[in-house]
Amino acid sequence: MKKAVDTATATYSSVHRGKGFASQVTSAWYEAARAEVATFVGAREDDHVVFTRNTTDSFNLLARCLPRDTVVFVFATEHHATLLPWNGVRTVRLEVPGSHDDAEVLLDEALTRHPGAHRLVVVTGASNVTGELWPLDRLTAGARRHGARVALDAAQLAPHLPVDLAGRDVDYVAFSGHKLYAPYGAGVLAGRADWLDAAQPYLAGGGATAAVTADGTVWHTGPARHEAGSPNVLGAIALAAACAAFRSNRVALEAHEERIGRRLLDGLRAIEGVRTHSIFGDDSDRVAVATFTVDGLPSGLVSAALSAEHGIGVRDGKFCAHLLVDALLEHDADATAVRVSAGLATTDEHVERLLAAVASIAAEGP
Ligand code: PLP
Repeated sequence: MKKAVDTATATYSSVHRGKGFASQVTSAWYEAARAEVATFVGAREDDHVVFTRNTTDSFNLLARCLPRDTVVFVFATEHHATLLPWNGVRTVRLEVPGSHDDAEVLLDEALTRHPGAHRLVVVTGASNVTGELWPLDRLTAGARRHGARVALDAAQLAPHLPVDLAGRDVDYVAFSGHKLYAPYGAGVLAGRADWLDAAQPYLAGGGATAAVTADGTVWHTGPARHEAGSPNVLGAIALAAACAAFRSNRVALEAHEERIGRRLLDGLRAIEGVRTHSIFGDDSDRVAVATFTVDGLPSGLVSAALSAEHGIGVRDGKFCAHLLVDALLEHDADATAVRVSAGLATTDEHVERLLAAVASIAAEGP
């Protein structure tokens, strides 16, 4: 895919717009990008891969494609990108679970209470707040027992662990290119074709149409139906290049992340006055993301001190998951936290520097 990026930047035009050489080359790379993404997510042969702007866009698109009587089931722990797009859709919001068993029971009870022909369970692969992995296989099996479909938010999962739509029996997946180190502005919704092909186009316009006459419009089926307008070609190609790079380096990346993530969490937990937060408990499997608070110190201040005094950039706040952070921080009037995310470029030395910085801020106190 690196060659695709080089070629596309040299021979760059809009896609599917004619027989011009540049358009043909760019179209070929754009479709190759789609094929790479399909491989990356382990798509079934007849799944669609639609290029979007980001995960938020993907879930809004999916929300517009649901059959009329669909009921959506979503845990309160979700990122706002998956918690909020269901405007006008019957939505059952599940409580914050305390364990994997609890999550399974909550979902089973909700599905039993709300029968229906079309139901969609939305679940996150890895929490963007705590980094914890969700019991995806158990929830998917539970959904299937009730005949419900599953949509996976892989925004956090995809950079850390494989997504496997077919293997894990997931119906839809969404993620963002920038989380895979591709540029901002390109994302993906991949999954079952039927609902996508039956829905009105997400955007009405050129590219989505097979024919427009005085009598009406015939919309394409397939990904083009939801990709009206000139697409973000370079974004899609770069996103696919990132997918290919991740696929070929998974083993090394996972080993790196496992070590860094473990040290990060153990190190934070060992600092007096620092509390780390989890949904399912301290031992749950997770990606290298940790959220913590320092007793007596507002998280905004901790974050500012890490930046100004130690040159370390972290995020503070509620991380677009207000309901979850409120639930995790019941004890804390400030109700915001600090989040540390380790990535590909994070080294052991970075982690030690962060831990020393947090320790010194915590020791200074309010
Ligand atoms: N879901 C999760 C778990 C995320 O971490 C994020 C982004 O932080 C999103 C969804 C939304 O992604 P985007 O802002 O790219 O739409």
